[in-house]
Amino acid sequence: MYQTLYRKYRPKNFDEVVGQNVVVKTLKNSIKNDRINHAYMFFGPRGVGKTSIAKIFARSINCSKKDGNICNECEFCNFSISKDCLDIIEIDAASNNGVDEIRELRDKVNLVPSELKYKVYIIDEVHMLTIQAFNALLKTLEEPPSHVIFILATTDPQKVPETIVSRCQCFSFNRISDKDISENLRRICDAESIKVSDEVLLKIAEFSNGGMRDSIGMLDKLYAYCDAEITMQDFIDLNKIVSNSDIIELIHLVDLGKMDEVSSAISDWNSNGINLIQLMDSILVCLQDVIFDSLKNNKCDFTDVNKIIKLANLINEKMFDIKKCSTPKVYIQIMFLNFMNSYFLDKNISREIISQNKEENKIENKEKNKVLSVKKEKNTTEKEIAGIIEEKNVAPIVNKKSDINNSNIDEIIQIRLNNTFAEADKNELNNDKESFKKLNDFVFDQNIGFLACSLLDSKLRVSSSKNLVISYEYDSVVRENLTHLDEFYDVLSNKIGINKKLAIVSDEVWEKEKKLYITKLKNNEKYSYVEEPNLVYNIIENDSTNDADSDSISVFGDIVEVE
Ligand SMILES: [Zn+2]
Repeated sequence: MYQTLYRKYRPKNFDEVVGQNVVVKTLKNSIKNDRINHAYMFFGPRGVGKTSIAKIFARSINCSKKDGNICNECEFCNFSISKDCLDIIEIDAASNNGVDEIRELRDKVNLVPSELKYKVYIIDEVHMLTIQAFNALLKTLEEPPSHVIFILATTDPQKVPETIVSRCQCFSFNRISDKDISENLRRICDAESIKVSDEVLLKIAEFSNGGMRDSIGMLDKLYAYCDAEITMQDFIDLNKIVSNSDIIELIHLVDLGKMDEVSSAISDWNSNGINLIQLMDSILVCLQDVIFDSLKNNKCDFTDVNKIIKLANLINEKMFDIKKCSTPKVYIQIMFLNFMNSYFLDKNISREIISQNKEENKIENKEKNKVLSVKKEKNTTEKEIAGIIEEKNVAPIVNKKSDINNSNIDEIIQIRLNNTFAEADKNELNNDKESFKKLNDFVFDQNIGFLACSLLDSKLRVSSSKNLVISYEYDSVVRENLTHLDEFYDVLSNKIGINKKLAIVSDEVWEKEKKLYITKLKNNEKYSYVEEPNLVYNIIENDSTNDADSDSISVFGDIVEVE
């Protein structure tokens, strides 16, 4: 019968244990110095050697040589490995919550060992015991007979009652390093004459997340699956993962703003059974490599290393949400689209088109103030720049690179807040909330997807027939979104039928304003409606500047003043 590689190569003495040096050294010394405790608790991730070491320790403390290992020669070593040995007892608390076994343990614990010096109870997954079983165990731990040793192993020490933990000497088992794992796999492969490259072994190690058992299990699966030699492709096929080169390709697509291709890559992988959460982890590792490489060698295969850093930060930030959401595919797609959209608009389109149109714009610029009909053409140029506004009645768009600090935007937001409070209506708010759901239809829209997403991310606070107040947690998000104020207006009015002027504030500002509103209500003070001025950017009139950004402001700035 085939014996699994894991069983076959399970460590049989302390020398064969990989990656738990501190634990092994301490346990060996305790045997050598004859300082053996009555109860031990081994905790750490699954598959890192807790049960294997417990078994080795149980045999070592019974070896007559007492040198901290198993001699495999003395009568005790011979007995402790035999099937008839009744003095080393393994209990799997996960199998039946251990009530019967713990009860039996309590009944028999006082009986002296039949052959060995110590009777050792190994209780695996001890956190799974029921309360009754814990109580029974506690009674035994309180007054253990001198010939009994307990080794409790768990992946979840938090779930073990403190009264139990405090009676044990505790050992924390760490995840095993990729290097240690791959070296151990190499030993096994050599012994079994399995052909495989170091690259694949390292990949198995990375994939096993520090668990030796999982890594050997995977090697076993690959060995069964492959013909002459285990290749990287076999690994990729069997584990349904995405290759590094495909990940790099994806990062390139994101970098270049290829929204359709990014979206369909994620879709395809998802339909092929790829674990997208694992994929995100791999992308992060890959991005990290890219960032390190670019910073070290001062060159980057992508358009901008800062963009790659931003992408890595974004994925890192969203990882928790991705893990807990029910449809990671959609979440991930939106995340990438959002990233590309904002980046594309902020950097590429405005810079590229601005430089393309520079000459043309300069001519227009000279003629400004002359003819009002120019307005129409300028609007057209603006549409190109933003690339997001459709036909008709478009409110003048503020150039993305305009400095909102350099405008009367704060004044306008304050007036809008005031005006919303002046005519606040609960029904309006409820209707708006209902209408906002329609934004979900546009999250994949090439042009307005990121606006829809941003609006969906907001909290609707108060509404009137003419105004709406939304808020975001972070001030930086508020400032960013304020630069898209007119585009939001367009999406709200043209797509979901909300014809209102928007005030965007931070949660903090909102809380202050709300308090003020409530205080005023109590004191019977009223908000009175104020006419709002036009949004004005203070433009520096300087044609000779070489800076593309300020150029663009002076070129397009006048548009917002028209009307
Ligand atoms: Zn021995």
